[in-house]
Amino acid sequence: MDNARANDQLTQWDHDHFFHPSTHLGQFARREMGNRIIQKADGVRITDREGKTSLDAFAGLYCVNVGYGRTEIADAIAEQAHELAYYHSYVGHGTEASITLSRMIAERAPEGLNHVYYGLSGSDANETNIKLVWYYNNILGRPEKKKIISRWRGYHGSGLMTGSLTGLHLFHQKFDLPLSQVIHTEAPYYYRRDDLSMSEDQFTAHCAAELEALIEREGADTIAAFIGEPVLGTGGIVPPPAGYWDAIQKVLKKHDILLIADEVVTGFGRLGTMMGSDHYGLKPDLITIAKGLTSAYAPLSGSIVSDRMWEVLERGTDENGPIGHGWTYSAHPIGAAAGVANLKLLDSMNLVSNAGEVGAYLNKAMTEAIGGHAHVGEVRGEGMLCAVELVKDRDDRVYFDASEKVGARVVAAMLDRGIIARAMPQGDIIGFAPPFSLTREEADEIVAATKAAVEEVL
Ligand code: PMP
Repeated sequence: MDNARANDQLTQWDHDHFFHPSTHLGQFARREMGNRIIQKADGVRITDREGKTSLDAFAGLYCVNVGYGRTEIADAIAEQAHELAYYHSYVGHGTEASITLSRMIAERAPEGLNHVYYGLSGSDANETNIKLVWYYNNILGRPEKKKIISRWRGYHGSGLMTGSLTGLHLFHQKFDLPLSQVIHTEAPYYYRRDDLSMSEDQFTAHCAAELEALIEREGADTIAAFIGEPVLGTGGIVPPPAGYWDAIQKVLKKHDILLIADEVVTGFGRLGTMMGSDHYGLKPDLITIAKGLTSAYAPLSGSIVSDRMWEVLERGTDENGPIGHGWTYSAHPIGAAAGVANLKLLDSMNLVSNAGEVGAYLNKAMTEAIGGHAHVGEVRGEGMLCAVELVKDRDDRVYFDASEKVGARVVAAMLDRGIIARAMPQGDIIGFAPPFSLTREEADEIVAATKAAVEEVL
């Protein structure tokens, strides 16, 4: 079959059978929206089956951090598959790859976080975290201390619990979420503060006061943990206001509430530091890792557990028997082999510092190019994360009507120019999270296409 006919066949099967995540099902089935079949990739560029190549300025879903086509990782996966494709990690079993990776993660995690439980996705790692928090409080004899606080605009996954933690309505509606143990507090979103007269410091104090008030309303003895991304990701790529994490951690400490740092996006270099926790001085009890752990060459996630929690978990199993929490694919050897090769590559290619340097360049160039445009409310970012928030009215920060689909149209106009950006799910926010290997010239390409697309659509 020639390529064009094969593509037609795949497209037919795609529309008929493939239930795509985060997709408008009716529009897709009725072919009111197209598909795109990706075939290959190299460095920062992906190519589809029509032969069209694009610069992937979102690294897949901010996960292909080392870039595409890294043979070191592909070879490690192949070698592992040949030697030992699978063995489980229950009752003390492991592989060289899973043990080595655990050591490498502990070396890269903040001090006092030394134990790794593996999953396959950011969502399941956060499910694990919540179960560990509940187990911990049960062992400590405080069964009432169970509620979890997350932030509006936070993203922590799409499971029952993690979808509840996610603070975006799209992920709740018609799914009977959030579950009752989850409560949400103010998003640290300075640009969208209610009172525009507030300084950044005042807004930080306001976020901490809101948290304190929520804890007092609910009762500290009912609240187990607070979960947050160092920088809000899917909720709009929003770095916190100055001093935010210090102020929040002070409140949590006062009320003996555990901190879960969800570093699925920020872990392993995206902010220009190994962990986002290093960047903001977070001292978490649990860290969620996924995407950047393997740069998505194989699915693998993890919960990094602090020594403080570990001690209690150990005591729990002494009293109750083995921990009743296990996935078949926990520490899957192929994922672990990919993880080891990926972390080595981050070091040998100096990619964490490149993410910091070229990320700063991208943010500066983007601000200079379109920061003053009449419909650009804000350009913001941190490390290799950047966002452009589009507004109808710059002075009053008024949103465009959602039916105008301004964000999606700008992203489509960028794709016409060969650049993949992401229209973030809430508000007209164009997100950028390129691979860490991005060069300044490639950053310039992204900025030029953004400028041209914004000017064309608006
Ligand atoms: N936490 C954060 C911060 C994320 O960005 C994501 C995914 N975008 C998740 C959790 C969930 O990860 P996954 O999609 O692998 O379940």
